[in-house]
Amino acid sequence: MLIVNADLDGCRVDVRFNQRIEEVAAGLKPRPDEQVVDAQGGALLPGLHDHHMHFLATAAWANSVDCGGLLISDARSLRQLLQQQSGEGWLRGVNYHESVAGDLLRWQIDELIDQRPVRIQHRSGKVWMLNSAAVERINLQAFANQQGVEVDAQGVVTGRLFRLDDWLREQLASDLVTDVKALSDELSSYGITGFTDTSATNTDTTAALFADWRSQGILRQRALLMGGDQLRDGPLKIILDEDALPPLPDLIARLGRARAAGRSFAFHCVSHVELLYALSALDAVKTDHRDRIEHAAVVFDEALPMLRESGVSVVTQPGFLWQRGARYLQDINDREVNYLYRHAGIAAAGINVVVSSDAPYGPLNPWQVLHTATDRTTREGVIIGAGECVDVETALTGYLRHPQCLTQPPRRITVGVAADICVLKKPWREAVKNVLDVAVLATVCDGELIYQAADPRPTVGI
Ligand SMILES: [Zn+2]
Repeated sequence: MLIVNADLDGCRVDVRFNQRIEEVAAGLKPRPDEQVVDAQGGALLPGLHDHHMHFLATAAWANSVDCGGLLISDARSLRQLLQQQSGEGWLRGVNYHESVAGDLLRWQIDELIDQRPVRIQHRSGKVWMLNSAAVERINLQAFANQQGVEVDAQGVVTGRLFRLDDWLREQLASDLVTDVKALSDELSSYGITGFTDTSATNTDTTAALFADWRSQGILRQRALLMGGDQLRDGPLKIILDEDALPPLPDLIARLGRARAAGRSFAFHCVSHVELLYALSALDAVKTDHRDRIEHAAVVFDEALPMLRESGVSVVTQPGFLWQRGARYLQDINDREVNYLYRHAGIAAAGINVVVSSDAPYGPLNPWQVLHTATDRTTREGVIIGAGECVDVETALTGYLRHPQCLTQPPRRITVGVAADICVLKKPWREAVKNVLDVAVLATVCDGELIYQAADPRPTVGI
C-alpha cells in the first residue's frame, strides 16, 4: 500500500508499506494494483497508543445510561431518559435505586420502554432487571429453574437476575462483539492503533478473548494487557488504596514473585501516601525501566527525588482536569490542587511522563487529552496548575512511546518499523495550532487501512 503527498516533519513524502514500512521518499510511483491513499498534504504520524484505558468498560459505557443521576427522581424522568437514547439494540441502565420508581420487574420496565431490550443494574451491583424484550431476546423462561432467576407464583420469570453477571455476559456474547467493534472503530477514527488495558482484573482468559477478537478482525488495534496474578504476560497491576494498604513485606514478596516471572509493575497511585508506599516497595526489589506509576494524581515536590531515582515512568491523565476539574476544585484542598496530574514540573525533575486517557473514567479522545495537557483548563474554563502545562509535541510524544517500555525513544515513521500510521487532514504546522480540531484522514495498523475519513477533501490552504 502507498500513502502519497504526506507531510512528514515539514517535508512532502510518500510511504510504501506492507506490515512494515518499506520506503519513505518523494515521488514513489504506484505499482500495478497497489492501493493508494492521497494524504493531500496531511501530517504523517506514527499510530497513537493509549497507554492507560479500560477497553471493555469503555465499550459497555457507550450504551449505558445512568439511572441514578441527580435528575432521575421518579418513573417519569426515568422513562424520558430511557426513551431518549438513540439506537435499537440493547440498552443498559446502571446505578438504579428503588427510591426512583420502586422495584422493577419486567412489566414495570415495559411501561417505561418496551421497543428494545433493556437491562438495568441495581446500584448494589447484585441485581439485573430485564424488560420483556430482553427476557425474550435471551430466552430467559427456558432458564426459569436456574438459581438466581426469579419467577412469580405461576413460574413466569420476572426479569430479575440475582448475582448472575457471568451467566448474563455469556448470553450477551454476540452483543459484546458489536460493542467491541464499535469502540475499535471509534479508536481508529482518532488515529489510535494500540492501547494498554490496565484493568487489574485481566487474566489469561481476558487476554485470549482480546487475541480472538483481533484475529477475527473485530478488534483492529494492538492490545497490551496488564492484570493481576492470574495473568501470565504483561505488567502486574497493583492497586494501592491508602485506607487499606497491604503489609509492606507481603507486597514486596508479591513483587519478587512477579519479577522472577519476568513481569514489570504498574502501581495505581492517586494519593501522596500511595505514591510513597509504591516507591518504598519498589526500592526493595530490583528496579526495571519498564515499571510505571499509573495516575500519580498528587505528586508533592518532596517525592520527586525518590520518583526520579526509582526510574519509573508516570502515566498521567490530564483529561481528568477538563472532565472533573470543577469537582476537584470543590473537594480538594488548596495545597493539593496545584499538584494534581502534574506534567511539566515532574518532567523537569528528570521523570518520564506519558499522557493517556483512563477511559471510560477520563475522556477517550486523544486530541482532547493532548489539548488539556497544553492548557489544563476545566470544562468551566478554570486553569489548574498553570505551571504544569506542556506543548502539544511533548504531550504527543506520550502516545508515541513503545507500550512495553515507555522509556524507549518515541516511535517514528521510518523504514523497517511496523506500519502503524495516522494521517491527519492538515499538515502538522496547521494541526498544532488547534489540536482539539484535529481530524484524522486515515489510520493504518499492522499495514492495514483501518480507518479512512468518509469525505477526504483537500483542506483549504494546502
Ligand atoms: Zn484506570
